[in-house]
Amino acid sequence: MTPIPLQIGILGSTGSIGQNTLRVIDRFPGRFRVTALAASRNVDELAPQVRKYHPEVVAVVDATHGDALRAQLGDYSGRILIGADSLCEIAAWPSIQTLVVAVVGFAGAAPTLAAIDAGKNIALANKETLVAAGAVVMPRARQRSVTIAPIDSEHSAIWQCLRAGAHQEVRRIILTASGGPFRNRPLETFATITPAEALDHPTWRMGPRITIDSATMMNKAFEIIEATWLFDLTPDQIDVVIHPQSVVHSMVEYQDGSVIAQLGSPDMTLPIAYALLAPERPKGVTGPQALDLSRANTLDFAPPDPARYPALDLARRALAMGPTACAVLNAADEIAVAAFLDGRLPFTGIVDQIGKTLTAHKPVSDPNFEDIVAADQWARDYVSGHLPGTPAKAVASTR
Ligand code: MG
Repeated sequence: MTPIPLQIGILGSTGSIGQNTLRVIDRFPGRFRVTALAASRNVDELAPQVRKYHPEVVAVVDATHGDALRAQLGDYSGRILIGADSLCEIAAWPSIQTLVVAVVGFAGAAPTLAAIDAGKNIALANKETLVAAGAVVMPRARQRSVTIAPIDSEHSAIWQCLRAGAHQEVRRIILTASGGPFRNRPLETFATITPAEALDHPTWRMGPRITIDSATMMNKAFEIIEATWLFDLTPDQIDVVIHPQSVVHSMVEYQDGSVIAQLGSPDMTLPIAYALLAPERPKGVTGPQALDLSRANTLDFAPPDPARYPALDLARRALAMGPTACAVLNAADEIAVAAFLDGRLPFTGIVDQIGKTLTAHKPVSDPNFEDIVAADQWARDYVSGHLPGTPAKAVASTR
């Protein structure tokens, strides 16, 4: 019997996860129906996707590109939505069953909540949603019996390894980290790292922010926070190990001492397919030689050096302070990374600025989504006001 196609909406369809999601969909004709596509601004990429997949609805967030999208779509008969609110409208679109949230940044949180409220399952690539708003998102997902399937490769690995035992049998999880491009670079030269050097990631091809976050290890800091929410674990149950080959995507250690790992080539189509189809593992997601350990036969593991990767400690600090501090961590990083890419902040200044912002933050206990949005905005203003060369009067007060 041919299964009824799963109706998919993709927020962020022109980014690297969005394109890989469409690649997965192409490999399984008849299994999926692309019901909605949304992009931030890349209409030159979005318009051909609309012509190929004929979604019911398409959206571009940046309104200045609305006319260009309309012009390129000509006689398209579906709905065209323009502007920032369009993501939430798509998230609740009636015929969508699973929403892939692959937009970048905190902008993913509101549409994820809208989709949960509308009872959609979520395939989540946007880690900011859980880092900043996990305290609101996860209880609501449980309430609505909605699945939050991780697309992040480490969390997909953990999700897969967790099938080997019960939740109360988990002793800890071990997130692997490649160590980024500066794993062996002399520490005293870190201040002179250029954006071009930091954008050259050794194993994964990703967008600019996550590539910089991988170089500073802020990405792993966010993944620690993400894991506490996704898997209902305490911060001390989450460890990080440096694994330069990025073959072991992460591991779960059970109380009997057994460690279950998930391995694979660094190819995002595997976690995407698992997020969409789990627990099914169909043929043809990756090539026949997905991982050949007889060739790539050296797997190295080492503990992360806190002096090289101070970002990991920031995650622990933010988790101890509570959910609004985690939102601050994410927002401060977004602004600091942009400042680094613009040449306004040295590489080492990224983590420094985030640490200072965390110190200045006054956490709100038991926050609702509005408190989290306020903490996010406060952190953006605070970092922007404290960048080198900012006039003193522009500096935001603490809250
Ligand atoms: Mg990851």
